[in-house]
Amino acid sequence: MGDWIPRTELGRMVMQGSITLDEIFHLGKKIKEPEIVDKLIPNLQTDIIFIGGSPGKGGGIKRTPTRRTARMHRSGRRYRVQAVAVVGNSDGYLGIGIGEAIEHRNAVNKATENAKLNIIPVKRGCGSWECACSDSHSIPFEVEGKSGSVRVRLMPAPKGIGLCIGDEGKKIMGLAGVRDVWSKCFGSSKTRTNYSYALFDAFKKINRIKIEKKDMPLQLEEIEEHEEKKTEDSTKPVEEIAKEA
Ligand SMILES: [Zn+2]
Repeated sequence: MGDWIPRTELGRMVMQGSITLDEIFHLGKKIKEPEIVDKLIPNLQTDIIFIGGSPGKGGGIKRTPTRRTARMHRSGRRYRVQAVAVVGNSDGYLGIGIGEAIEHRNAVNKATENAKLNIIPVKRGCGSWECACSDSHSIPFEVEGKSGSVRVRLMPAPKGIGLCIGDEGKKIMGLAGVRDVWSKCFGSSKTRTNYSYALFDAFKKINRIKIEKKDMPLQLEEIEEHEEKKTEDSTKPVEEIAKEA
């Protein structure tokens, strides 16, 4: 961090302290250096979504942080490791990223960097009619996010309900700073990469609805295009390759 030399105009502005994170989002500027986020959110936390799994001893699935992927090659299969990371400050900023490498640690590092580049503001609120307070402990209204074949619905919950969502969802809500929420998942939540991206999509939708009211839809379309490139991948899980063979 101490020896960061900004490579972009935005990076130089952040270094000089002449722009805030909210201004970056308001102007729709693209963050191309992860250090920008490190600098502007000093208390940023990272969590790894457990996307991997192997059948464990005595039944059940042993959850693992990374997933092995295989790519066919003339001389056989080439294995790589995939990781999904989430970053946030538990107070209204959230990012998600995917990374792939030969080594586990490099995959995690790449995923973390990508998560920083994908950071978005999280609009929180209290859309629960049972609670109807003005704190930002939940989400402002019901929303549905989608990724691949997975759809997730998030519903505002009153204070004290907690996070009614799976373990990986809890990590994401925690980093976003949402303390009470109800959720429902449609499709295969086993594909936790899609599940996590669907949750992220739900937060993007909340932003879009607010932004559309301000007549600024362009900003969000840009974010989405970038996002799609990141999730698209030529690799497949090992199991799928095995089935094809
Ligand atoms: Zn409330």
